[in-house]
Amino acid sequence: MSKDSQPHFSRQHWLTQSQFHAQSDAEILTLIVNKVQALAKLGPKPVVLLDLDSTLYEVAPRSFGIIREWILSNRPTFAPHMWEVLERLQLEHVGYSLNDTLHALGLDVQSPEVLKLAADLKAYWWPRFFSNEYLPMDLPYPGAVEFAVQLHGLGAHLVYLTGRERAKMGTGTILNLKRDGFPFDERTTLWMKEDSALDDRDYKLQAAKNVRSLGELVASFENEPRNLVALAAFYPNAFHVFVETVSSDHPAPRGEGIYRLKRFSSLNSISNKTLTDDRVKER
Ligand SMILES: [Mg+2]
Repeated sequence: MSKDSQPHFSRQHWLTQSQFHAQSDAEILTLIVNKVQALAKLGPKPVVLLDLDSTLYEVAPRSFGIIREWILSNRPTFAPHMWEVLERLQLEHVGYSLNDTLHALGLDVQSPEVLKLAADLKAYWWPRFFSNEYLPMDLPYPGAVEFAVQLHGLGAHLVYLTGRERAKMGTGTILNLKRDGFPFDERTTLWMKEDSALDDRDYKLQAAKNVRSLGELVASFENEPRNLVALAAFYPNAFHVFVETVSSDHPAPRGEGIYRLKRFSSLNSISNKTLTDDRVKER
């Protein structure tokens, strides 16, 4: 069966249909650290792919800031019942998409009134979300910086592989990585889209093929099922880690032999020892 003729699943359905390894967060991160360590000693150079949005970075504060700005600047145009709902917006309402966010506020996203509102909001949100200007609002997830620093310190080449467009978001992306303490030197690469018309998955897959010029892919980290599944199919011998934050509802083929990470902060519980056989047997 060709890849495109496979059944595709969205979000929760994709999670239940996919087959994940059983390792805990700490065990997954340890497996990757150990592989990086082993390759760094014996070669070829270990490479790790790290997505940015909703993988290393929480982008909800960026979206929240823009939506809040839109609500406040358009306040006089809202009917009282709509203002009552919109003024309740909190960071925790912010989902992957604007529709997710409006739905979380309790709005009926199919109603004509909300459809019109969503279209207006999107017109305001889109150019701002995909710009340097609001990127400072992004925050790294707990433990993400420490994990990247650890891998880099052990000799890994880190590739920040993002669907962000370089012309619109390059400056802000670099400023954030440096501000937050992510490694950024000759053993890191920032791959961004040069052409916004490219589909994220196709772009990432194309870019990932260039990993071979850097060394051997040890692991990839992604929050988008369809990107991760494509990377896993291309590099079947690497660890492919689904970072369970938020994701789009783009359908993806079921994942097989991939890992599922809830948070990087479990890194704190990793001892300096390698994962012993006994611990593996316990599972
Ligand atoms: Mg992402």
